[in-house]
Amino acid sequence: MSTTHFGFQTVDEREKARRVRGVFDSVAPRYDLMNDLMSGGLHRLWKAYTVMVANLREGDRVLDVAGGTGDLALAFSKKVGASGTVVHTDINEAMLRTGRERLLDKGIVLPTLVCDAERLPFPDGCFDLVSVAFGLRNMTHKDKAIAEMARVLKPRGRLLVLEFSRVAAPLRKAYDLYSFQVLPRLGQWVAGDADSYRYLAESIRKHPGQEELKALMQHHGFGHVDYHNMTGGVVALHVGVKC
Ligand code: SAM
Repeated sequence: MSTTHFGFQTVDEREKARRVRGVFDSVAPRYDLMNDLMSGGLHRLWKAYTVMVANLREGDRVLDVAGGTGDLALAFSKKVGASGTVVHTDINEAMLRTGRERLLDKGIVLPTLVCDAERLPFPDGCFDLVSVAFGLRNMTHKDKAIAEMARVLKPRGRLLVLEFSRVAAPLRKAYDLYSFQVLPRLGQWVAGDADSYRYLAESIRKHPGQEELKALMQHHGFGHVDYHNMTGGVVALHVGVKC
């Protein structure tokens, strides 16, 4: 039996996927509200910076992996215009449906697909840019997912990974206090679910830090990788160029 971690617990690999699905089934209806509350709106700035770094052009083909409620897919669709494509994907139907309805309310219709980042249903070399925001941390085999994202990119195509990372040492104590004492209470109060937000705090601690993720991306198809720390390393944007 192969094991992995689900937050601070060690679980069977198949059990992790089931539990992650449970987390996002539970949080989907309140996901956007909780994002604003938890981050004090900062997630909007982190995503806006990601869109700026993406520097998309009209006609580009983009894949948003683990796209959830569609913040990045929506912003990207405005950049690539009618001649471009943004494919909005996620493994979780509840998250994707919430996102699709939200985009439809804004008059945006995108190709939307339930799929696992570890087995992407796309041919080799068909996207200019692949993005994954706050999704990689939840995947069982991050190496497989990164290799898959490299596979579907065109040569010189870019992967953008926006994810929680290692905070700078002076912020660590306050950040831990906030993550383990405040977040679960906020989750209980707003979404009636403390456990999912406890998992969020724990999964961030288990996720590779800036340099480790850079090395993982370099090992799985990205010749050049840079990262940009934001908010003292609470979040990092890794940019990999397919070799
Ligand atoms: N990208 C969105 C955002 O930034 O708001 C949603 C991020 S949400 C924290 C993480 C998403 O990752 C969830 O919607 C979850 O279903 C998705 N996810 C987890 N494991 C996945 C996998 N193996 N393949 C695709 N999506 C996955």
